[in-house]
Amino acid sequence: MKKKTTMLAMMLATTLLLSAQGQQQKMDKFIDDLMGKMTVQEKIGQLNLLPGSSVTTGESKDSPLLKLIEEGRLGAILNMKGYADIRTVQETAVNRSRLGIPLLMGMDVIHGYETIFPIPLAQACSWDLEAIEKGASIAAKEATADGLNWTYSPMVDIALDARWGRIAEGSGEDPFLGSRIAEAVVRGYQGDFGPTKMMACVKHFALYGASEAGRDYNTVDMSHLRMYNHYFPPYEAAVKAGAGSVMSSFNLVDFIPATANRWLIDDVLRKQWGWDGFLVTDYGSIAEMAKHGLGNLQQSSVMALRAGTDMDMCAEGFVGTLEQSLNEGRVQLADIDRACRRVLEAKYKLGLFDNPFVHLDPVRRSTDILTPEHRRAARDMAAETFVLLKNEPQADGRPLLPISKQGRIALIGPLADNRVNMAGTWAPTAVHDKYSTLREAMERAVAGKATVSYAQGCNFTSDEQLQRDGGFNSPTPFRDGDQLRQEALACARQADVIVCAMGEEAEMSGESSSRASLEIFDVQKALLEDLLALGKPLVLLNFAGRPTVLTWEQEHIPAILQVWFGGSETGDAICDILFGDKVPCGKLTVSMPRATGQEPLYYNHLPTGRPVPEGATAYGKFVSNYLDVRNDPLYPFGYGLSYTSFNYSDISLEGRNASVTVTNTGDRDAYEVVQLYIHDPVASISRPVKELKGFQRIFLKKGESRKVTFQITDDLLKFYNPQLEYVLEPGDFNIMIGPDSSQKNLKSTTLTVQ
Ligand code: BGC
Repeated sequence: MKKKTTMLAMMLATTLLLSAQGQQQKMDKFIDDLMGKMTVQEKIGQLNLLPGSSVTTGESKDSPLLKLIEEGRLGAILNMKGYADIRTVQETAVNRSRLGIPLLMGMDVIHGYETIFPIPLAQACSWDLEAIEKGASIAAKEATADGLNWTYSPMVDIALDARWGRIAEGSGEDPFLGSRIAEAVVRGYQGDFGPTKMMACVKHFALYGASEAGRDYNTVDMSHLRMYNHYFPPYEAAVKAGAGSVMSSFNLVDFIPATANRWLIDDVLRKQWGWDGFLVTDYGSIAEMAKHGLGNLQQSSVMALRAGTDMDMCAEGFVGTLEQSLNEGRVQLADIDRACRRVLEAKYKLGLFDNPFVHLDPVRRSTDILTPEHRRAARDMAAETFVLLKNEPQADGRPLLPISKQGRIALIGPLADNRVNMAGTWAPTAVHDKYSTLREAMERAVAGKATVSYAQGCNFTSDEQLQRDGGFNSPTPFRDGDQLRQEALACARQADVIVCAMGEEAEMSGESSSRASLEIFDVQKALLEDLLALGKPLVLLNFAGRPTVLTWEQEHIPAILQVWFGGSETGDAICDILFGDKVPCGKLTVSMPRATGQEPLYYNHLPTGRPVPEGATAYGKFVSNYLDVRNDPLYPFGYGLSYTSFNYSDISLEGRNASVTVTNTGDRDAYEVVQLYIHDPVASISRPVKELKGFQRIFLKKGESRKVTFQITDDLLKFYNPQLEYVLEPGDFNIMIGPDSSQKNLKSTTLTVQ
């Protein structure tokens, strides 16, 4: 029987292989024929990506973009929203250019199209891979219903420094979790392609999240060991999951811009990881090489092409200089052909040569976007991403949250009735006027049973200049601070409970939004102090695209819910948790610091020769600590409270299987994320103090117990050694399982590997 099954499996594998080979041959033949007809200019045209703003749906000669398309000098367009415009450009490419090659239509669909899901950092805090994959597939379904076929997502950059605004766009500090999420998102966008799927673009390759001092676009310098062991895994996982494209990063890698770094692109990405998709630069990266000191646009374009970059986003270096470089012998026709072929392959895989209008279905655009079903999924996910940081018992002995839908609620803060800030950063396709504010959602939720009174309370910051022109476009008008404060106090005095919606504006995180201090803004904190002085129960909803320093808040405020930016359904989702219709289950995927000066702060750091015990509060001399703040985070990686409680048994180890029994000891059914960490105490190189190597998200009814087992495979124990070989070094390993990464909460045992 077993023999027969093996035979069948082998036959199936052979059939699949032959059919894949057949398809590859068919594609190769198609592209050979097409390229045989292309001029050098048309080939270079395929490598050119420009923004879509200059389109008019009128006569083609009116628009420079349409003219370029007709001449075959444009292969792709980015950030053009709208069925009509996209149809115009695609029809121009297909019907008016000499060879009728369709366009790639790219967009930053980062966390949803019109149904906006939580920002990626928040999504990671759900640890719910299924929901994350579903979110990406809904985004693809909506975006392709409007004509797009390519998204600049997922961003899989590991980010250890909360000052960096783009920490909002990734999964946080952990390579294992980041890799699983990267795979899920790629699957969600691409599947096996087809009319409702789009091509993923993994970004930003590589190491963009390691910008020095957390300042965007800044220098990166890092050892290869750290790249391989900490930063590369999510990129590798994403491309191995089949991502069709990769975007290079703005930064240097080994002192060479990533865009032109042959080792990075050709050796690591293509040869070591066996990836065969196409690589696009980030916005204008080739032109920026001159500023890095690598030579003019022509020289930079030569370097980038020869390193393995295929498409130039917005620098017009390829389209403007490659022909001349070819004539001067600085690049070969084979270099141009190779890049052109990869771009054409992407179009082929998307099915654009079979039907260039596969993503332009006039029916789907009215049935598939912002549907109630999609909005439900976004709301469910948003509720899973909120992290309950604190929930202190009140006079009656019960924790403050959830609050009841009765009595008088004062809803206060600059985010309480603020529509455009709900979606969060990188939501260029959002339709804000169709989303609710928190105040509207809360009024719906209490439906006449409670009263909700609202006051803005304060501006985001006292710094009018920052709020108006601080490098981001504040959509919130600046108002008289004293008057706002008086209104809030009057409102709060009448209330039984105060709910404060405070934090950052959406565009205070994301690209070009680094911050040098991570505290809640001055005027918000002052208002919190005034409100607390009223002696009423107060809940803080902290909106942020990054970890916030909440040291003072942890000391003084009875309940804190980290809500990030939850997307189009934020308001309803917050009410689901606030009033207890759902139980919070999010867990942090970034360490939350006690002080900004601790950054970069991350749980999976290397040991020092002068360590202090985790959680030490006394400051020693000649050990690795600060004089003025503890080393450990305020809230550690993996942390998040629930409305119930869980008990973990000790670990039982049978062979390579490590198990714990988890019991829901409270009185609510709830999800728990059970986390596995491993530490290799003796190795040929120093290894992190602990690393996440597994997690299981389980649902336990109140009183229910479940045995959770992790199999410790070789892969979980391996690492890159100084020769950059991926090896397992036998010996003892610490195996730790628990509800978060803090040592005091982890059960541990030792596994010996011969
Ligand atoms: C960002 C990318 C983005 C691109 C296109 C760049 O500035 O770094 O993440 O995909 O713009 O909008």
